[in-house]
Amino acid sequence: MRPYTDMATQTDLVVIGAGPGGYTAAFYAADRGLSVALIDREPNPGGVCVYRGCIPSKALLHVAKVIDEATHASSWGVSFGAPKIDVDKLRGFKDRVVKQLTTGTGQLVKARKIKYLRGTATLLGPTSLEVALLEGGTEQVTFGHGIIAVGSQPAKVPVLSLDDSPRMMDSTGALDLENVPKSLLVIGGGYIGLELGSVYATLGTKVTVVEMMPGLLPGADRDLVAVLAKRIEKICEAVLLETKVVGVKEQKDGISVTFEDANLARRDQVFEKVLVSVGRKPNTMAGLDKTKVETDQRGFIKVDARRRTAEPTLYAIGDVAGEPMLAHKASHEGRAAVDAILGEDVAFEPAAIPAVVFTDPELAWTGLTETEAQKLGKRVEISKFPWIASGRALSIDRTDGLTKLVIEPGSERVLGVGIVGPGAGELIAEGTLAIEMGAVASDLELTIHAHPTLSETVMEGAEAFFGNATHIHRPKRK
Ligand code: FAD
Repeated sequence: MRPYTDMATQTDLVVIGAGPGGYTAAFYAADRGLSVALIDREPNPGGVCVYRGCIPSKALLHVAKVIDEATHASSWGVSFGAPKIDVDKLRGFKDRVVKQLTTGTGQLVKARKIKYLRGTATLLGPTSLEVALLEGGTEQVTFGHGIIAVGSQPAKVPVLSLDDSPRMMDSTGALDLENVPKSLLVIGGGYIGLELGSVYATLGTKVTVVEMMPGLLPGADRDLVAVLAKRIEKICEAVLLETKVVGVKEQKDGISVTFEDANLARRDQVFEKVLVSVGRKPNTMAGLDKTKVETDQRGFIKVDARRRTAEPTLYAIGDVAGEPMLAHKASHEGRAAVDAILGEDVAFEPAAIPAVVFTDPELAWTGLTETEAQKLGKRVEISKFPWIASGRALSIDRTDGLTKLVIEPGSERVLGVGIVGPGAGELIAEGTLAIEMGAVASDLELTIHAHPTLSETVMEGAEAFFGNATHIHRPKRK
């Protein structure tokens, strides 16, 4: 029997997709007094981020960090012996984290009296849609406004498609942590490949990373990436740059991969598993053709500064509405879209969106990077503080870090901050706040930072800009 066939709901706002963008928008709208329906296939809100992205990867990266620190402790005179990895228990820990978080979001749906519909939505027009319910049947929803937050999925490359091979994984498969393979090829030196590659490398897999560009993390500043690359090269079997994978073939003992280097020379190598992490592409939303919503050539939904589409009742946020495809960008867009729907005079115009690579060391940047400034032909001054001069970095035996400020000449405004080192993902928040508040270098210089902390590297980075950092002697050039 189909329990809810042809049920109907009428609501102020419908949100399609319950990832960090969608559920934040839905929760905020309910808090602001709108009646809200939220639609997703998952049992509770969370989206890619919570079920198969940010959160499970960070749970595994935390374990990797503990293993690394325990290994490193022998140089301080504390030895723990080789780690014994219980893969089932480790997977259980990661799954528990996801379960706890999504149980929490489920409770928040109920507390806010949001109607949660589990199924797949298809738009029928600018103010109506149909949900194919997971439990069977359909439900029609009519709404005043809709927010499309259907997210993204791993990009596929035809030459790398061996869809039925369990040896080929995308990020979701890698997070499933079926086993710890003897060897793994990570195709793509972006943040997802490096994060998951480091987890497997620390668990004992021989990891090779292949990237067709000349460096890892294309887009990030090279001096920051250099610090991370050094470590990645240490924990990996090999890092192959300017190298393409031109073919994959399944064979009895693994996947035979054909590499082509910059000189067009080819060679084959066999890996037990292959992780394809070559980027993400926006999901498609069925029924857009029944509306005026437009997409660009990459499939992103076109939105204005309020996140409104070409169809006045429909908004789009998160990964489906364009780069950067990051959870915190999605959630902030969600709140901006709700404000716009409530008639407020808003625009999503952040001065800075932080990006963090949660490897060890972490790499984070916010605002303008030096690389972007060069591309734009914008004159900037760079000030750096090496962590070798930080008491805190020395005391945790991690002097490999670097803090860097991108400053506007003349006004001395902080335009960008980049940090590589343990905890960079937390430290970057100060940079984002500084940029959002229009801080100048002397604001960072004069703000008292607790000692001894890694956050002092931001303050001393500003001191270095004036040529008088306490712990380095680098007078300002006249
Ligand atoms: P999503 O999280 O993609 O959610 C979209 C939801 O919509 C999904 O639940 C989907 O089921 C649902 N949906 C789609 N179509 C329909 C439909 N027709 N009807 C109903 N429901 C539908 N970002 C960070 O900021 N920090 C990180 O550390 C980070 N780590 C990551 C690690 C990995 C391995 C991956 C894969 C991603 C990571 N990301 C990270 C990116 C982050 O997950 C995304 O940017 C974020 O999830 C985007 O949120 P969203 O709300 O746009 O959509």
